[in-house]
Amino acid sequence: MNRRKYDVAVIGGGPAGYTAALYCARNGYSVAVVEKLSAGGQMASADRIDNYPGFENGIDGFELGERMQRGAERFGAVTLFEEVTNVSLSGENKTIFTNAGEISARAVVLATGAEPRELGLKDEKELVGRGVAYCATCDGMRYKGKTVVVAGGGNSAVADALYLAKICKKVYLVHRRDSLRASKVYTVPLSESGVEILWNSRIEEILHDKKVTGVRISDVRSGAETILDCEALFVAVGRKPETEMFRNDVELDSAGYIVADESTKTSLPGVFAVGDVRTKAVRQIVTATADGAVAAHFIEEYLL
Ligand code: NAP
Repeated sequence: MNRRKYDVAVIGGGPAGYTAALYCARNGYSVAVVEKLSAGGQMASADRIDNYPGFENGIDGFELGERMQRGAERFGAVTLFEEVTNVSLSGENKTIFTNAGEISARAVVLATGAEPRELGLKDEKELVGRGVAYCATCDGMRYKGKTVVVAGGGNSAVADALYLAKICKKVYLVHRRDSLRASKVYTVPLSESGVEILWNSRIEEILHDKKVTGVRISDVRSGAETILDCEALFVAVGRKPETEMFRNDVELDSAGYIVADESTKTSLPGVFAVGDVRTKAVRQIVTATADGAVAAHFIEEYLL
């Protein structure tokens, strides 16, 4: 059995996780970041990040993730590319079980983030890569000059619609209510963008042969149905926190986020939640990195 021991184990190698790792390693603790894929988390799939300070021309999300990893490793943090299969977090010695063995730690940082929510339509999963997408900046260029539909009414949906309007022939934004949840910074440019909004509308079916050819939409008030021909459907209806594995250990809110205030302390001593996975009002890279620094402060207090 491959057993490893660290002062601090961080589950998830996104901006929050690597910032916690950087601060803890710099404070002299032995730190392991357990990551199943590559550094950066959701951020890694953004082709340009303009709202993380210090990069006046923006930065590629994948590169920023790798830089954050190297920044933490400079102070001795290690990255274990393993998949976590289970955790045992109560008590003073915490254990993380992975596909490669066991990791024990005195403090654990949960930084698993959140993944895009699906619409739950028939064939939605099967059509990913063949017209269904969850990230406009990652997949938008595939549909350059084409007609596309964006589903949702929050910041992500409107940001995606604005991005796609610059490269696609026609963009429809389909929203189930009569007002957007998105903030002004996104809604103001929307009126000039050429994006056509279909209010009070629900996508009922994705039409396809091998690839997406359109969507069937119903008006939620009248039930009237319309077919929109399109080559892609971008789903931007919020995100789902990756917390299923922690359900029995720490308190979650009704949406599945880990309950933790600005201190990042969870309901279990020695277990901290940082970044998008934590209950919070604003989920951004800067708020994620801020969480990492705060967690390190309280970890030091806990480990004294
Ligand atoms: P969100 O704010 O939760 O919005 C989700 C949208 O999808 C809502 O309009 C919701 O409709 C709709 N929706 C949810 N389930 C649906 C379903 N089954 N069918 C149809 N529509 C559905 O999620 P988000 O836009 O992904 O944003 C998540 C967080 O990231 C927010 O805090 C946001 O501010 C932040 N964010 C910030 C930026 C930025 O400032 N740079 C960019 C993107 C995201 P209802 O309105 O009817 O509930």
